[in-house]
Amino acid sequence: MFDSCLRRYYFHYYLSWGGWQRQAPRIAREAFRLKRLTSLPLWRGQLVHYITTKVLASLRAKGRIPAFEDVSRYTLERFETQLEFSSSKKYLTEPKKKGGRLNIDWLALFEHEYGRPFPPEKLQKTRNECLTAMKGLLESEILATIAETDPDSWAIENIDLAEFAQVFDFEGAKVFAKTDFMYRGTDGSFNIVDWKTFSARSSGKGNTGKARVQLGVYGYYAASILGEPLDRIRLLEVNLLDGGATVEYSISSDDLDEFYRHIHGGIDKLSSVLIKGDIARNEAGPPDLFPKVDNGLCRYCNFYRICKDENNPDRLP
Ligand code: SF4
Repeated sequence: MFDSCLRRYYFHYYLSWGGWQRQAPRIAREAFRLKRLTSLPLWRGQLVHYITTKVLASLRAKGRIPAFEDVSRYTLERFETQLEFSSSKKYLTEPKKKGGRLNIDWLALFEHEYGRPFPPEKLQKTRNECLTAMKGLLESEILATIAETDPDSWAIENIDLAEFAQVFDFEGAKVFAKTDFMYRGTDGSFNIVDWKTFSARSSGKGNTGKARVQLGVYGYYAASILGEPLDRIRLLEVNLLDGGATVEYSISSDDLDEFYRHIHGGIDKLSSVLIKGDIARNEAGPPDLFPKVDNGLCRYCNFYRICKDENNPDRLP
């Protein structure tokens, strides 16, 4: 977000802050509401990630991989409930989190908020992709491998609590690592899994560059914070829409240096727009540090209304 539009980054991380409070300025409340809008591909990813955690929890509790019939029924139930929640705009009145737990059916789709209906075939495609991803998981080699390991070593992302399980200090900055799943292999390896919900094969693009860096940061965490030996760490990118096809990355000491520099560079970059670069204070600099962009992104941007919509007299200049 920082690289694609600084103004968007400002809306998302700074202007929206405190916007959940009734007494917050109107523009902050609006930014907070818009920040939580989701696109169809992101929703697909969220739903598949959530149900994957439930599949793993069921495998841990019962010792067997659940049947596709049960998983697909549950997936469709969540899909339709969430779609109805968003289309009837319940997100305007119902809280996303209550008593420290996330309402997992809380959904606000961009199209519903902006009154831009999507063609039924797009919705059907998303529905089918959710089912394909779940089938990909259940039939994947990696799930069969995981089933052989000791569930006590598993770290399943706890989406219900909406918390980051891994937080570490990096030279005075707090870094949040949001790993999907970690487990200890029967060979003693330490495995960090990232579930992907795009099809590298059908798009013909792959995502290896980005995924390698993302997983590399997790690898840095495993090596430098948890103290895992490098030769035991395995970083696994699992493409659920490609039948659970897995790309494995190992991590060398050179890689570790590279990921160290990556985290360091990221912190420098993000703090460059803070007042006096002060991370602890974490207050954004003046708006001219956050220029708008002028490209095709804007029409599909969550913040279009308060940024570029000329019919909105309250938009920010
Ligand atoms: S509408 Fe365009 S300029 Fe404004 S925040 Fe979004 S992407 Fe950036």
